[in-house]
Amino acid sequence: MNGTLRKSAMRLHGRAEIIAPDSRVRIIRLVEPSLGPESHADHNAVLIRNGEVVAGRSAIVRIGAGHPTGKSGTLGVSLQAEFAYLEPGDILRVNPAAQQVNVLYRRNSASNSLLFTERCNSLCLMCSQPPRDVDDRYLVDEILEAIPLMDPDTAEIGITGGEPTLRFAEFLAVMEALRTHLPTTAVHVLTNGRLFAYPMAAARLKAVSPTDLMLGVPVYSADPERHEFVVQAKGAFDQTIRGLLSLARVGVPVEIRCVIHRQTYEGLPQLAEFIARNLPFAAHVALMGLEPMGHVKMNLEALWIDPVDYQHELDAAVRTLDRAGLRVSVYNHQLCTLDRGLWPFAVQSISDWKNIYHEECEGCTVQAKCPGFFASSNTIRSRAIRAIAQPCSDEVSAEHEVTSSDWQRDGGNSS
Ligand code: SF4
Repeated sequence: MNGTLRKSAMRLHGRAEIIAPDSRVRIIRLVEPSLGPESHADHNAVLIRNGEVVAGRSAIVRIGAGHPTGKSGTLGVSLQAEFAYLEPGDILRVNPAAQQVNVLYRRNSASNSLLFTERCNSLCLMCSQPPRDVDDRYLVDEILEAIPLMDPDTAEIGITGGEPTLRFAEFLAVMEALRTHLPTTAVHVLTNGRLFAYPMAAARLKAVSPTDLMLGVPVYSADPERHEFVVQAKGAFDQTIRGLLSLARVGVPVEIRCVIHRQTYEGLPQLAEFIARNLPFAAHVALMGLEPMGHVKMNLEALWIDPVDYQHELDAAVRTLDRAGLRVSVYNHQLCTLDRGLWPFAVQSISDWKNIYHEECEGCTVQAKCPGFFASSNTIRSRAIRAIAQPCSDEVSAEHEVTSSDWQRDGGNSS
């Protein structure tokens, strides 16, 4: 990756020129003309790039210059050149009434995640997707429509919110659809885990669980009051811990996630001890840098601490977890902000579409192994950011790759 630095985020939604027989929202898939599956033909779309028909069936998606065209009664979409990355196999949500397109799924990306709901029963200080109390049940309907269109060889898919378990019946339906249509795909769900304090909920999930499922559950402190201050929800600590125990009892793998900021960094060593003693079944522990999005912007003063100022606490936590035999990773931290002893634990955790590098990274010899930045990091970043001149082949361990079964899709602050 050295040489070309992506400096702005990939657009996953935007305005489009759309002609359609009616205002109905559609979920469409771009398909290879020769190799494309015949199934779900009514969802398949012709993709035209530079005047050449690349893919297609019953709708037309044109990228770059030109107005939407199509046979009468069919859907025609014209997208700006910034969507030139689209490929056959990708899935779009097309909204004719709003003249909007959302990219729901990219076949060749390892960073696909599906927004299940914007509603949540926590209100985390650093939530990157602040909850909204809206009726967004249509999101589930669209996910259920999109899943059968996805490539069965998809390696990984994420479910995010909001809190997906708030609509538990629909959540189980999505889990079942993933198990049916993507039987080999690793599924990662971001949840606050509180519902699973009810053992029956954990058992019901287990009954429909995709083969390779992992729940990413946040625990921000070993101190219940501190955790509940961060998530702004009374009783949440007890519910989350009981939820984790219920999930372990039925054999659903869990990952513990802790976002590090001014309210959590001091307690990292104690949190690591707590996890090692009480939650040793965790398949993975992710200690995560802050994504400067959503509530973080509002609470920046209360949250921001330069990562170089918590290296001692981070190192102590990582050593404790590692010594206890737990798999531990450091997410969202640029290598130049980390003590070298932590480099083997650093993971490229930022979803591809919002992962960028800044000017300071020009010529950095470790960029290929550095997680880089969230696209939203323009406002604030560490004082330690600077290109690293010397090679470091033995410092970033190739052994510590996060595999599909303990992977996460997005190192963001949600859930
Ligand atoms: S180590 Fe620092 S300078 Fe190098 S690529 Fe990462 S963020 Fe950029």
